[in-house]
Amino acid sequence: MKNSKKSCLTCKSLQTIKWGIKKNKQRFKCKNCDELFISSNKSVSDSNKEIWFKNWIIGKDTFDKISLESGYSKSTLQRYFSKMLRKAPVLEFNSTYEIYLVLD
Ligand SMILES: [Zn+2]
Repeated sequence: MKNSKKSCLTCKSLQTIKWGIKKNKQRFKCKNCDELFISSNKSVSDSNKEIWFKNWIIGKDTFDKISLESGYSKSTLQRYFSKMLRKAPVLEFNSTYEIYLVLD
């Protein structure tokens, strides 16, 4: 039997379990960070997520726009970003954003 363990897209953990099928794609749930992801999707790298996160924080992109670009649902993005907000030092984002605001 083939080992179908998938590493989590968010934290790279292998502590993942199958979590039902959605739109004919196997979903997985990460036991480490609780992230749900789909294995057969075009793999979206963490760096992409970071770019969307920065676009959201700095560029004030809406969830609608990022959802369209990323293919993630808005609720997925919101969950992911709230995780990143808890982890990331957002102060530097905020100060950068203020500067752009003043220059504009
Ligand atoms: Zn994870």
